Order: sequence, then C-alpha cells, then structure tokens
Amino acid sequence: MSEFLTTHCIYGTINTCPTITVGIIYSHRNGDNMAKTILEVQNEILRLKKEKDICILAHSYQGREIIEIADFVGDSYALSVKAKSVPNKTVIMCGVRFMAETVKLLSPDKTVILSNKNAGCPMAEQFEKDEIDYIKKKNGNLCVVCYINTTTELKTVCDVCVTSSSAVKIVNKLDEENILFIPDINLGTYVKNNVKGKNIQLLHGGCPVHASITESEVLKAKAEHPNAKLLVHPECVPEVVKHADYVGSTSGIMDFAKTSDADEFIIGTEQAIVETLQFECPDKSFYPLSVNMICRNMKATTLVDVLNCCKGTGGEVIELEEKTMKKARKCIDRMIELG
Ligand code: SF4
Repeated sequence: MSEFLTTHCIYGTINTCPTITVGIIYSHRNGDNMAKTILEVQNEILRLKKEKDICILAHSYQGREIIEIADFVGDSYALSVKAKSVPNKTVIMCGVRFMAETVKLLSPDKTVILSNKNAGCPMAEQFEKDEIDYIKKKNGNLCVVCYINTTTELKTVCDVCVTSSSAVKIVNKLDEENILFIPDINLGTYVKNNVKGKNIQLLHGGCPVHASITESEVLKAKAEHPNAKLLVHPECVPEVVKHADYVGSTSGIMDFAKTSDADEFIIGTEQAIVETLQFECPDKSFYPLSVNMICRNMKATTLVDVLNCCKGTGGEVIELEEKTMKKARKCIDRMIELG
C-alpha cells in the first residue's frame, strides 16, 4: 500500500494519502451501477497501470483525486519531456488536447492517450494554420513565435515555440527583429514589455480563465489580505500583472510560494494551484485571486475517465501524421536550442 502514498511530481514529491478521499463515484458509463469510493477507483487505476505498464501524467490544474494517482504532475512542456524519458510504452495525459499532442510530438513511438477527448483548450485552438501563414507572408515573413499552448497543426507554420517561463529569454535571443507572437495577447504583451529592440506584433488571442480577471478583483483581494504577496500568471491582463509581486509560470508561482519567507499569498492562476499549495504548505495561507479561475476543460477529466483509459475503453489515442509532426517539431527543436 505504501507505493500508493507517494506521487512523484515535477515540483518535488507529493506525499499523498488516499484515505482522505471519501467521495463516491457511480460508474454508469460502464453499465456498472455499483457505487465505488474514490479510493477504490484510485486503487483500481494504480493496479491496472502497473499491470499494463502505463505512465500517467497529470497537469497541475487537474483535480486532487487525479493528481494522487499520477506518476508525474507539472506544466505541459515539463510533462512531455518527462514522458520521453520514461520506459513505459503507453502514456495517459490528464490535461487538454494540445498537451497530449506535445507528448506525442516528443515521443512519437509511444501510445499517447488523451484522458477525455472533449478536453480542448480555447486558446490553443483560437487560430487556424492558414490564417497565421497568411499574416506571416503578407508582412514580409515575420518570425512567428508560438506559445506551447497551440495545436500541432498551428506549430507547423511557426518558427519557434516558447513556454511561459522561457518566452522572454527566447525572444531576447532571436536574431530576427520582426516578430508575431501568438496566440496569447497577454503573454505577448508581457514579453513585449520585457524585451528591448524587437518589433513584436500581437493578435487578440488569450486564455479565457486568466484573461477574465479584472484589476478591481486584484484591488479587492489586496484589501482583504493586505500582507499577502500577489503571484500571477502572465496570461492575466496587464492591469492585473502590474500589481503582482511575482509574475511567472505555474511551476514558477509554486516555487516562489514554497521558498518565500512570506506567509500569505494571493494566487492569480487556476484554482487547483491554490489547493495544491495549501496541501503542500499547511503553515502558509493561500487565497484565490478570484473563485472564477477554474478551467472547465482541465476539469473535464474525471477519475472514471482515467480508469477507462487504463481499461482501454476510454480516452482518445492521439494520431498525428508523420509529416505534420516533423514540421511542428522544428519550432520545438529551436526552443530547446535557444532555451
Ligand atoms: S487554463 Fe486557459 S490556457 Fe490552460 S487549458 Fe484552460 S483555457 Fe487553455
């Protein structure tokens, strides 16, 4: 049983205790109306993944019950890199579609399963490949910098990929001066404000979860918690970002909160991070910047979805054409080279 108590995590090691999960799951989807506890389903997943040699990845915005059964938890790109290094031939990605595609791009010989086929990312799917290709060529072959949160199809017309933590560093290192940054206007604005000597053009894309937060919500949260440090994701609008004590990726926010001498933090990213930080740092206090910061796509995956993936009756096996992967990998290779 002790093997169930530790989840290896990109942020460190999470000591989990399945006995705290007391909810009930009704597995109607399998035609099995027997009620099972969350712990029973978790144990069945753990048994199956061991038996079938499956690696389970969970993005850090997943629910606690999924994080507890994952082999690795973290940001999307870090999870893809981790998946490449594990010996397992089958990987289940509990997250959204572009994340499963990135795992496949980096590990083309593995079977990669997206935990819930309806889990997309509105930001990643905002622009079409042809649209970006047209803008790129019409403007004298702009250098297209894309956030990792893009589809594989879109990456085929991009020159270099970035993560939220590497974006400023990579754009700074580019030889090209004329840049089109896609799809997030807010991360793009953050990059623009922190990079000198480049002509950076932006489009009106973005993450509906982070972009929905307003400056008045920041002022309200700061008034309620005057001693708390404000940590925000650069996908938030500039009016929110300008009040932050720290701006960074999800893992950056978590590292900052864990190592800071401060005791209180207002967290400007998905609600799951507030929960995880409170779980891992019980002596500190974490407050959500807004209770509306919940990504419905990230929460689409249920524990029963993961169970069905392990059984081979659920999820979606990611299939990408070899020529598409080859083109899309070029911008990831350039990110690795510059990062
Ligand atoms: S939080 Fe935003 S960027 Fe992340 S999956 Fe949800 S919609 Fe996409």
